[in-house]
Amino acid sequence: IPAENIRNFSIIAHVDHGKSTLADRLLELTGTINSHHSHSQVLDKLTVERERGITIKAQGHVDFNYEVSRSLAACQGTILLVDAAQGLQAQTVANFWLAYNQELSIIPVVNKVDLPAADVERVTKQIQSTFELDTTNIALISAKTGLNVDKILPNVIEKIPHPTGDVNESLKAFLFDSWYDTYVGVVCLMAIVNGKLQKGDKIVSAHSGNKYEVADIGIMHPEQVPTGYLHAGQVGYVICNMKAAAEAHIGDTFYHIKSPVDPLPGFEPAKPMVFAGIFPIDTNEFNKLDESIAKLTLNDASVSVQKETSTALGQGWRIGFLGTLHMDVFQQRLEEEYDANVIITQPTVPYKIIYRDGASKLIRNPSEFPESNEMTHKIIELQEPMVMVTVIAPEEYIGSIMDLCGSRRGEQLEYNYLDELRVIMRYSMPLAEIVTDFHDDLKSRSSGYASFDYEDMGYQPSDIVKMNVLINKKPVDALAAILHRSQVSSIGREWAKKLNNNKTKTKNYFYLKISSKRQLYEVVIQTAIGGKVVARETIPAMRKNVTAKCYGGDVTRKMKLLEKQKEGKKKMKMIGNIELPQKAFYDFLSKR
Ligand code: GDP
Ligand code: MG
Repeated sequence: IPAENIRNFSIIAHVDHGKSTLADRLLELTGTINSHHSHSQVLDKLTVERERGITIKAQGHVDFNYEVSRSLAACQGTILLVDAAQGLQAQTVANFWLAYNQELSIIPVVNKVDLPAADVERVTKQIQSTFELDTTNIALISAKTGLNVDKILPNVIEKIPHPTGDVNESLKAFLFDSWYDTYVGVVCLMAIVNGKLQKGDKIVSAHSGNKYEVADIGIMHPEQVPTGYLHAGQVGYVICNMKAAAEAHIGDTFYHIKSPVDPLPGFEPAKPMVFAGIFPIDTNEFNKLDESIAKLTLNDASVSVQKETSTALGQGWRIGFLGTLHMDVFQQRLEEEYDANVIITQPTVPYKIIYRDGASKLIRNPSEFPESNEMTHKIIELQEPMVMVTVIAPEEYIGSIMDLCGSRRGEQLEYNYLDELRVIMRYSMPLAEIVTDFHDDLKSRSSGYASFDYEDMGYQPSDIVKMNVLINKKPVDALAAILHRSQVSSIGREWAKKLNNNKTKTKNYFYLKISSKRQLYEVVIQTAIGGKVVARETIPAMRKNVTAKCYGGDVTRKMKLLEKQKEGKKKMKMIGNIELPQKAFYDFLSKR
């Protein structure tokens, strides 16, 4: 196929604005699929989505911005789809900027014009004023009914440039997506920038230096159709002997063994941004869980896994995720597909330590937090990851949302009206503030009308500390957390209270432990920074009714008994080291 006849484009939109539905209509129009085929979304049903199972739910979510931007890098243009009833949403704006920064041709399209609530004029104005895109002949479509969908492809042909690679140059192939297929192993999607790639070719990953041989190659039409080769300008699938999805680095460049080329710019390995410890509730299940986690990560290249040992919870893993939704999906898959029961500790973002000698190190676990001695002598500063948050909401919710962002250490960078009713705000905010229920809080403050998205903004110096939870003076490693100093007293108090609270059930475990061992000491719960106690809660000892038998009469005997009991308690306190069952941690942590 001559490159002049190829158009590589994507569809970007806020979640539910109609990407999959439009993709189906376009595949029908081009004869790629039969229109009577089925009413459900064909692309979503492909192997990719099947294999990813429940992660489909995560698509379009902010955790996966990195993947969106890599996919855009394989295109020369994109259709920016906007729901005519909802108008611009946060992901519309974030995706627009991803495409804009890659210098793609952007074709705006208004979808769902069939809806009674559609307000085409308002939405068109929003697109024009926010993105400064030409909306004079904007396509007003219904991907559902098919209305005006035929106007899109002529636009694509006219406005999106064809790829400009050279078939006669050395091979340069760009890997932008991959998944694990149970039968054939890792399937890669690649855009051929220059040259030609054929079945049987030996290729090298510029990132890892690993060598592979192409076993199968072809186009997605929409299922895999082998063609034996792909040439410059084409996008298709490549199956080579990769063992795990982790070998397929999104953004990697491949070349022929004998003719190395410079890799394409902008490669960054997938960066997990949220880390949490995962432990089995039943420690006998360690081996089974180990296998399940290995299987799950085989097919998810963006997860990182390391073994971890906790004094409180035993053996487990420290797992890195793209975001909290990714973490939830992972946990859900473990539970649903592998029948596992796990405890997940408080998530931590990667903090950075800057040393006096210029070196730096990322810490992903409160246990790696530097001791105070090291802090004073070797470390210049600590830094935390920042993000740029985009929020779009109806005007009436803005006050409450600004309070939320302020309380989450956000700094406003932009405040603008999209139109008379809607406001767009941008904030710089620590990532740590986003990973703790920001989304839920935002939704509840805006009756569900606010949308948000965020992008990476690098690191910034920050006054962060490690908070320990002590039970009878002993720090419990599974409950340690890294926090900003300004939050220590409120969170410290909250956690101590929560441990001493019947509602969270955790308190009952202390009683269980106390009564089963017939121990008569009180339990002291403290949260502390270094040696400084922030909050303290006391669970009183169960008082064995030692005086009950000696009613009336001998007061001195009564006193003596009480004295004796007190002494006993003192002794217990000294040796008293509460060991909580795993289930107690589960109950405490699962109600974050
Ligand atoms: P995606 O998340 O962007 O892929 O959105 P989908 O294609 O899955 O669409 C989300 C929902 O909107 C589905 O229930 C679709 O049936 C519906 N939808 C998509 N396009 C239209 C349209 O033009 N009109 C109406 N009324 N509904 C649509
Ligand atoms: Mg979809």
